[in-house]
Amino acid sequence: MGVEKPSKGAEKILLAQIKQEFSAPAEAIEQYIDLVEQFASQKNLDISSEISQIKEAEDKLLSQYEEAFRENTSADKKTKTSQEYSELRHNLRTPLNAIIGYSEILIEDFEDDLSEECIKDLNTILSLSRETETAIERFVDFIKGDLNESATDDSEQGQIQNAESLFRSLGDIDYSLDIDEHLMGSDVLIVDDNKTNCEVLERRLSQNGLSCRVALDGTTAIQEVESKTPDLILLDVMLPDINGLELLKRFRENHERDELPIIMVSAFNDVDSTAKCIKLGASDYLPKPLNGTILMAKSIASLEAKYFRAREQELLKELNLKATTCPLTGIYNRQVVFDKIEECFDDQKKSNKKEFALLSMDIDFFKSINDTYGHPGGDEVLKAVANTLRDACGENIVGRVGGEEFIAIIESKKDKTLEEYCESIRKSVIDLSIPFQDNKINITISGGVIKSSEVKDQEEFVNIADERLYKAKEGGRNQFIYS
Ligand code: GH3
Ligand code: MG
Ligand code: MG
Repeated sequence: MGVEKPSKGAEKILLAQIKQEFSAPAEAIEQYIDLVEQFASQKNLDISSEISQIKEAEDKLLSQYEEAFRENTSADKKTKTSQEYSELRHNLRTPLNAIIGYSEILIEDFEDDLSEECIKDLNTILSLSRETETAIERFVDFIKGDLNESATDDSEQGQIQNAESLFRSLGDIDYSLDIDEHLMGSDVLIVDDNKTNCEVLERRLSQNGLSCRVALDGTTAIQEVESKTPDLILLDVMLPDINGLELLKRFRENHERDELPIIMVSAFNDVDSTAKCIKLGASDYLPKPLNGTILMAKSIASLEAKYFRAREQELLKELNLKATTCPLTGIYNRQVVFDKIEECFDDQKKSNKKEFALLSMDIDFFKSINDTYGHPGGDEVLKAVANTLRDACGENIVGRVGGEEFIAIIESKKDKTLEEYCESIRKSVIDLSIPFQDNKINITISGGVIKSSEVKDQEEFVNIADERLYKAKEGGRNQFIYS
């Protein structure tokens, strides 16, 4: 169904209507700012910096629109690319961000000092800003040539009203968001070339207990992230040097979404841009002008997700440590040692793995240590021996496989022979002088040694090593037996 092009006269009327849709709310904002300013001066309330930011933005809003209107509706107007239309919309909306942001801040910060009337005026500024925003949308759609008249037809109006009455029916709700203790002080990096945007964001986030850093361009943002990875980045899409999407890609090269959440902030509020950002690794997307509640909700959600992911990894690490180590000595447990032996034999079957050896070791006369010094004394000895074996074995796996029994799997001996390697272990145990209460405990260790080339399978490997350990005990202890 084709839409008929309006006649010249009709177009003129439509144009006037579109301009009026913008001017009416945009100019009314000015009146309400004056009212708020008057109130503040009567009450000696110092909100001059917020007021002047709003006024400055208001001037910019009006003059930018005026210029855009002239340029795009004159007889010799140039048609633009769709990217240029998006940019125009973005630029026209930018001053609204400041008006909305500062008005919201005034409402929140000075709630107790401002009169009810004054808060109502500020709320009116907010709703006028939303109207202005819609008027900007319609203006850009119009000059683009795709203004859809049905957008304001009765059925949609009806829906809007329904939504409004739905929210009204919920009554007064406290919309403030609580931020959990563990997220307090989270480090947020705000990247936006517009100082006012940064200021509004910074104030909102710090009011809610977050700690902020600001970067006004891409290069600074990269430096900030390199100096310390923040907990969250709020990243503007339009930046002067490196565009926000490029920056997002760069950050994602070194930081995963779980570790560094990035929320894109942009006035390009369409599904396509949002989808693109998400595909490039953004955690979320915030449209400008920002709504304070949504900003906080999304920031908190991203920080929460990061926090829980980190906790999850910590717990996994803890769990893994518990499953693989002996709680008394901290060295590997029996399971890890036997898994390692199996892995070595599997590797050997698959490739020409170099020879490896197994040392089955047992502390001599350990029972008498317990008898003399008690169990706690015995435990100190076990810990000291485990530490010594771990140091002596270096990159090789060594674990506690029973009470005072240890197994090492020797894959690399550096330049030593196997005998030299085992001798250094035996001597380092002799050299131990373990302090316990007022005593120094001295001990020795015995070992049975076997090379992988001597056996056909894993079972034989372990059994023969144990037989040789038994021989070492029989033969007087404090020795390693190799055959
Ligand atoms: P041998 O030289 O023949 O190895 O004699 P031994 O006394 O070292 O050997 P035996 O097997 O008779 O004694 C081992 C002792 O180790 C018995 C047991 O009570 C003790 N033991 C086992 N686990 C632990 C532990 O976790 N802590 C302490 N303190 N003692 C342990
Ligand atoms: Mg920007
Ligand atoms: Mg023993």
